[in-house]
Amino acid sequence: METIYLDNNATTRVDPEVLEAMLPFFKEGYGNPSSMHHKGGEVAASLRKARLSLAALLGCDPHEIVYTSCGTESDNTALWSALRTQPEKRHLVTSKVEHSAIINNASFLRRQGYQVTEIGVDRLGRLDLDGLRKSLGPETALVSLLWANNETGVLFPIEEVAAICRDRGIVFHTDAVQAVGKIPIDLKASKIDMLSLSGHKLHAPKGIGALYVRHGLKFAPFMIGGHQENGRRGGTENVPYVIGLGVAAELALRRLPEENGRVRAMRDRLEEGLLRIPSTLVNGDRENRLPNTSNVSFEYVEGESILFHLSHAGICASSGSACTSGSLEPSHVLRAMGVPFTAAHGSIRLSLATTNTEAEIDKALEVFPAVIKKLRDLSPFWKDDAPALDNSLLTCDGGSCQICN
Ligand SMILES: *Cc1c(COP(=O)(O)O)cnc(C)c1O
Repeated sequence: METIYLDNNATTRVDPEVLEAMLPFFKEGYGNPSSMHHKGGEVAASLRKARLSLAALLGCDPHEIVYTSCGTESDNTALWSALRTQPEKRHLVTSKVEHSAIINNASFLRRQGYQVTEIGVDRLGRLDLDGLRKSLGPETALVSLLWANNETGVLFPIEEVAAICRDRGIVFHTDAVQAVGKIPIDLKASKIDMLSLSGHKLHAPKGIGALYVRHGLKFAPFMIGGHQENGRRGGTENVPYVIGLGVAAELALRRLPEENGRVRAMRDRLEEGLLRIPSTLVNGDRENRLPNTSNVSFEYVEGESILFHLSHAGICASSGSACTSGSLEPSHVLRAMGVPFTAAHGSIRLSLATTNTEAEIDKALEVFPAVIKKLRDLSPFWKDDAPALDNSLLTCDGGSCQICN
C-alpha cells in the first residue's frame, strides 16, 4: 500500500538533496568550525554558506540568524530574551491560538508572576487587532504571535502588528515555523524583531531551528556557553543539520512559486471535493491562509475515527481533537474560534507539500466519502437529511460523549 502523506504541518520528509549535502559532514567534514586548523576552517566556510542561504530565504542579514535545536527552542529563546533584557516590564501579549511552545511558556510565566494577555480570534480565526491594540501598555515587554496557524493555516497580519509594536517600543516576536517556505518573507522590509523557524517543517531534519534576531535588538542568550553564534547561543554547532537547513532554505525559496501555485491548487481541489460530502465545513479564513493547509470538519463523526480509517487506506492526516482516556479536549484553536462542538469534534487537518501529486489527491477524494459514510452509518445521530444539530445537546463530560460512544 502506498502512503499518501497529508500531514506536512506535523513534519516533512527530508529532501534527498538535503540529505546528500549533509552526509559529508558525518564523514570527512568532522572538524569543529571553531578550530584553527584546516579541518575546522573548511567546515566554518560551509557553515557561512549555509547561513547565507537561510538569510536569503528570510530576506535578512546572515548575522541576524541564531541557530537553535528546534522551533520550540527558538520560541523559548525569544520569550526569555525579551523578558531578561527588560526586567522592569512584567506584561506579555500573545494569542489564544498559539502553538504549545508559546502557550505553555505563557502559562509558566503567568505562574511566575507575569501578567499575560491572550488575544482572541473570530469565527474565521482572524486576530482581534483592536483587542491587541488595547492590551498594550507601558508594562508590556513583548508581543508574540503565530504568523501562520499550524492547525488551520490562517495568517495573522504580522507586518501590521510589528509596526504597531515598533511605534510603542514593544519587542515583537513571531512564531513563523509554519510560514517559512510557504509564503514570501522579507525581514529587511518588516518591523519584526524576532522570528522562529524549524528545519523539519521545510524538508530539513528534526533537531535544527533558527531564531532571527534583528540587528540592534537587545539580546540575552538562553543557552549560555561558548562564543558560538556570536555569543548568542553556546554549544558546538550542529554542523550537518545547519548545512541541511541551508539546502532546505535554497529549495524552499526556489519552490515558493510551486507552493503557491501547484500545491495551492491541489489543496483547493481536495477541499472542494470534501465539501461535496454533506454537513462538511472548512474551518478558518479561506482567503488569508497558507497555500498548503486545510482544516475540515465532518459533523456527526469523530476525528480520531476518521484518522484511523484513513490510515488504513494509507492516508496520513491529523486531527485537532484528542478524545482519549475519557478526557475530551477539542482543539484549543477551534474552541477559540467558536467552532461548534459537533464540528470541532470531527475536524481533520490536511497539510500538503510539493512532494504530493494529483494522483494522490484523486485517491484521497475516493477514500474520504466512503470513510465518512461508513462512520456516519454507525452514528445514531446521523440522517441523510440531518438538520444542523442543536449543539447544546452535545456536551462531552469526558467518558460518555454522545459522539465518542
Ligand atoms: C512545529 C511547530 C513548532 C515547534 O517546532 P519544533 O521544531 O518541533 O520544536 C512551533 N511552532 C509551530 C507553529 C509549529 O508548527
